[in-house]
Amino acid sequence: MKISFNDLHLQYLECKSEIDYAIEELLRKSDYIRGEAVSRFESAFSKAIGSNFAIGCGNGTDALHIAMKMLGVREGCEVIVPAHTWISTAETVSQTCGRVVFADIDPETMTILPSEIEKKITEKTVGIVPVHLYGNSCPLDEILTIASRHELWVVEDCAQAHFTTYKNSNVGTFGIAGTFSFYPGKNLGALGDAGAIVTNDKILENSCRMYASHGGLKKNEHKIEGINSRLDTLQAAVLNIKLSRIFGWTEKRKLLAKRYRDNLSSVNGIRFQKIEKDTDHSYHLFVILCNYRDELKSFLSDNGVETNINYPHSLPFTEAYKYLGHVSADFPNAYHHAETCLSLPLHQFMSIEDVDYCCGLIEDFTKKK
Ligand SMILES: *Cc1c(COP(=O)(O)O)cnc(C)c1O
Repeated sequence: MKISFNDLHLQYLECKSEIDYAIEELLRKSDYIRGEAVSRFESAFSKAIGSNFAIGCGNGTDALHIAMKMLGVREGCEVIVPAHTWISTAETVSQTCGRVVFADIDPETMTILPSEIEKKITEKTVGIVPVHLYGNSCPLDEILTIASRHELWVVEDCAQAHFTTYKNSNVGTFGIAGTFSFYPGKNLGALGDAGAIVTNDKILENSCRMYASHGGLKKNEHKIEGINSRLDTLQAAVLNIKLSRIFGWTEKRKLLAKRYRDNLSSVNGIRFQKIEKDTDHSYHLFVILCNYRDELKSFLSDNGVETNINYPHSLPFTEAYKYLGHVSADFPNAYHHAETCLSLPLHQFMSIEDVDYCCGLIEDFTKKK
């Protein structure tokens, strides 16, 4: 038995005829930059998410960078981000010359803790970037209340949360902007790098579009200095095809995740992500916590089950953020999470039997502990 963590080849095979046709058409038309598929994807994606606008860009990291830059982050500004996330959430604050301020996560929901956000607010704070980690929504009501009380903006990092809902609306529509990654392994993934920003704010939409495109909307008309971060026509064409399947794929992920939960709920020594009642989780990842994580990981690997650690170090404890001088006691929840987390295989081409096989192995192993 061999169970892979994800299977991008099967995803391609499911869409093969459409993808091959779209690529041939693109080659025939040489429609490489700002092609027709880009605007088609932007309108289809914003409609699917329920936002007024979507701005395609090069990747999910650029989406964060562009949004924060256009919200005015600059030297002297502080932005609060969770201590446990992918580095993009934090490094893009520094890219705009702002200062990264970490807040600890909730040990159960694994997302940023509102009470920790409040402790980190100073007169220099300008915004908060909550991350809907692994596909679980952050407690948006509490975060938005804190933000409005202190006049801060909220940009939601939705790179792991395509079509996660909170109170029946998609995440990404609650803050001033939401940012998405279409990295191949994300729930909605391209054949390379791609990303998008969603917003309901016309002024922000306009400035993000300009900044991502050398500072202007028309050729040779540079209103500001910008960057070059475009959504490739090829990637947009592929995303259009996959967008038409995403709801079915997400339902399959939810079904498999429920099976994991049902099977593992009675297994000693294994915990998983708590979901608040307002959230419909999209299961980018199914993450368990286990005190003997490394042993369990190698046991699963010996039995053909591929797992990942997302992520082995929380950001304050990486080399890149050593300059902030943090110690583990500053973020005890994030620290403990990184020591114990393990992401189990989860993708739309797995079967219930595959999940049962993984769970059987985990149960056998925990009984010996
Ligand atoms: C993947 C990811 C990003 C960055 O996306 P890229 O498209 O790889 O640049 C940002 N934030 C989080 C939480 C992510 O998981």
